[in-house]
Amino acid sequence: MSTRLHADPAVLSHLTRSELATLHRLLLEERIVQQARVVELQDPPDLEPDLAQFLLVRCQEALEEIEEAMRLIEHGAYGVCSGCGTTIPYARLEALPAAQRCVSCQAGHNRAQR
Ligand SMILES: [Zn+2]
Repeated sequence: MSTRLHADPAVLSHLTRSELATLHRLLLEERIVQQARVVELQDPPDLEPDLAQFLLVRCQEALEEIEEAMRLIEHGAYGVCSGCGTTIPYARLEALPAAQRCVSCQAGHNRAQR
């Protein structure tokens, strides 16, 4: 399997090739962490079943977001806010590699979910 990135430099103009490679690596690491957590939560040693189930769902959602972010990297559409279409700054992506919204759209999204 090739790990080459087929990103369109025009779309990803705000991210350098090495920034993108770093974010891709962060996503891979995060995926390993979340996958290990899912395995652990399927047979939780000392957690309430309800809490374990809640955490399991959160982990699976996080994994889906990671998969989606990696798909977006492949398609050259990564780092663009799904709400307003603005580019998401590298600093935010480095802290939250699976982020799909800018800070203000994420705030609005969180409010809408409550
Ligand atoms: Zn936005």
